[in-house]
Amino acid sequence: MQNDYSAWSLVRGASAGHRNWRPAWTDAAPKPAYDVLIVGGGGHGLAAAYYLAKNHRISRVAVIERGWIGGGNTGRNTTIVRSNYLYPESARLYDFSLQLYEGLSRELNYNIMLSQRGLVLLAHSRHDLDSMSRWANAMRMNGIDADILGPEQVHALLPDLDMSPQARIPVLGGFTQRRGGTARHDAVAWGYARAASDLGIDIVQNCEVRGFIKDSGRVVGVETTLGPIRAERVGIAAAGHSSVLANLAGLRLPVTSYALQALVTEPLKPLLDSVVLSPGTGAYLSQSDKGELVIGAMLDLFPSYAQRGSFAVTQAIIAGVLTLFPSYSRLKMMRQWAGIVDVVQDSSPIIGRTPIPGLYINCGWGTGGFKGIPAGGWTLAHVLATGENHPLAEPFQLERFLTGRLIDEAAASGIAH
Ligand SMILES: Cc1cc2nc3c(=O)[nH]c(=O)nc-3n(C[C@H](O)[C@H](O)[C@H](O)COP(=O)(O)OP(=O)(O)OC[C@H]3O[C@@H](n4cnc5c(N)ncnc54)[C@H](O)[C@@H]3O)c2cc1C
Repeated sequence: MQNDYSAWSLVRGASAGHRNWRPAWTDAAPKPAYDVLIVGGGGHGLAAAYYLAKNHRISRVAVIERGWIGGGNTGRNTTIVRSNYLYPESARLYDFSLQLYEGLSRELNYNIMLSQRGLVLLAHSRHDLDSMSRWANAMRMNGIDADILGPEQVHALLPDLDMSPQARIPVLGGFTQRRGGTARHDAVAWGYARAASDLGIDIVQNCEVRGFIKDSGRVVGVETTLGPIRAERVGIAAAGHSSVLANLAGLRLPVTSYALQALVTEPLKPLLDSVVLSPGTGAYLSQSDKGELVIGAMLDLFPSYAQRGSFAVTQAIIAGVLTLFPSYSRLKMMRQWAGIVDVVQDSSPIIGRTPIPGLYINCGWGTGGFKGIPAGGWTLAHVLATGENHPLAEPFQLERFLTGRLIDEAAASGIAH
């Protein structure tokens, strides 16, 4: 039965002093067996569960999350969505994701606060200008919107950017993807969770997967802190912890885990209405609906599972932003945090079958998988339901690390790796 989310239910709930509200999703206890188990209650795992039920009519499914849903990178990222990648394979995947984002509030009946305010990439040198022209042209050839910007156009979009002759780093132009922007990260997780739960999916929180149950080499379930759970197919969507989980199943993934950090300032009146990326300084920022400047940057350059982020990188991020926007120097930083991201050599995801029967994977999104959530969930659901890779995911198989057919998107990932 669908939950009642009408205005009346809100009025009834509010007048009862917020008591007796029905939870948006059912916090389920695990059953002994399912058709499909998904390990990881981030955006990708929750979206896969939703599309399994919606697209494939498979709802004997559980999402197993060791903490709370969205408590991993999905709730820690800087919320940027875009599809400005270089290669046709990536363009197809990421633009499909952006198109799903464009209809997601309606699809889930949950406001994900998509704001297509446009994304501006800054060119600081002749070399940047050349590579950005190539990048924007590649996007257009792949059917994705991109416009090269001259310095005046950049200035019109970003009046606070220091473009004076004394600027420490010159800005010679850049390019924009106008359909890029931001979406509310928690809402994406919660919206998929609520819609999946309504379709009969079990969302199991505070349940850690500690091992895999195998029968004649095939994965047939998982060992968890709440006991064993069996399933015909198991999908891993655990971002920075994918290789830890895959190791438990006997599979070595080409994933290295790093901390990636972000910070927010005190809230301000509206002053920045584009998302700005400066590959040259490594810094990027946007303004949230609450008014905070949301700032991100490069990876911490040593592999780690310590979800803090090192102070040297925090300093470098702030230095980058203040070089671009010196007038922000008196702002107070309110919060800093990090997430553990799953980086592979070519900065492209892995979505599909693994060499272990019964085990499937969605990982390798590294610093840019929030924008990929709808497509990652869609394509993982497809392979879990049918056993066949989705055509969009076909180029993103594990085999590419053996064949050498890599899809090197390190430059387009927008963050120094
Ligand atoms: C600071 C930062 C900024 C970012 N900015 C952007 C951005 O602007 N745009 C963008 O597109 N991407 C961005 N990203 C990347 C993006 O957040 C991730 O790629 C994406 O959220 C990954 O989603 P996920 O569902 O795969 O992983 P997660 O949301 O991390 O979910 C995985 C879940 O698996 C759970 N788990 C792990 N191990 C186990 C276990 N043993 N048992 C059960 N559960 C387990 C974890 O608790 C976690 O909740 C950023 C990331 C960070 C850290």
